[in-house]
Amino acid sequence: MNATDQRVQAAGGEPLLQVNALSKAFGGVKALDTVSFDLAGGELLALIGPNGAGKSTCFNCINGQLRPDAGTVRLAGRDMTGRLPRDIWRLGVGRTFQIAATWSSMTVAENLQLAVLSHQGQLRQWWGRAADMARQPALELLESVGLAELADAPCATLAYGDIKRVELAMALSNQPRLLLMDEPTAGMAPRERNDLIALVKRLVRERNIGVLFTEHSMDVVFAHADRVIVLARGQLIAAGSPDEVRADERVREAYFGNSVGNSVGTDLPQGH
Ligand code: ADP
Ligand code: MG
Repeated sequence: MNATDQRVQAAGGEPLLQVNALSKAFGGVKALDTVSFDLAGGELLALIGPNGAGKSTCFNCINGQLRPDAGTVRLAGRDMTGRLPRDIWRLGVGRTFQIAATWSSMTVAENLQLAVLSHQGQLRQWWGRAADMARQPALELLESVGLAELADAPCATLAYGDIKRVELAMALSNQPRLLLMDEPTAGMAPRERNDLIALVKRLVRERNIGVLFTEHSMDVVFAHADRVIVLARGQLIAAGSPDEVRADERVREAYFGNSVGNSVGTDLPQGH
């Protein structure tokens, strides 16, 4: 299939996110080359591709960290191309941050309280006041990711998988309509990866949040994603259901380094 120059439709309903002909080059390298796709609310869309394919560049052009050379990004029909990260966040685009974004000396609940207050624009009032501001919404967020019991534990004492859940809860504190997760399960064991993505799927279904995520484990991608889009050398080479993408010859070539792509030794599992 030729997905490069045709719009890849969201699974149903009005698209929440519309990425159209997005391009970004670094020197002579076309990190993103006229990439187009849609994403609907409640949909879990996996963005996969070999190392260097342009996945992070795509995320960063959507979240405002990078300004695309060309193309547009629309959220619920509203153009947000090239806006600042803070503005994009305000428009309802949440993202998971890496571990450094949690304050390890504070408790789990305090981290969430800061995130909630930041969303409410009340962060300045936090300092010097009793530490009970926004505690209730913070506890509700922790409950939703299964961490209520650890609310008063210092973040520094948490297991790695639980830190990832804190990061997810922090991303949800913004009440996002769209959640961007670039390698949310990096460093996790296979079982934990499955659990985290299953949790994300349940939460985004309940809240009708659209999710764009990258994930190295193809088992996790094929088990949980509603749709999969595939980048290779900056171009969108395939899109479809997990089964369609798994069977796609161009995808196999990109991963196995035959005629199309770069060899990275990443394995695509046979069907299960
Ligand atoms: P992925 O996330 O799929 O591994 P990236 O988006 O990080 O891929 O990178 C895509 C291509 O763009 C790679 O060739 C990478 O070396 C290049 N690239 C990414 N970011 C930069 C940058 N800030 N400066 C120069 N080249 C970059
Ligand atoms: Mg990357």
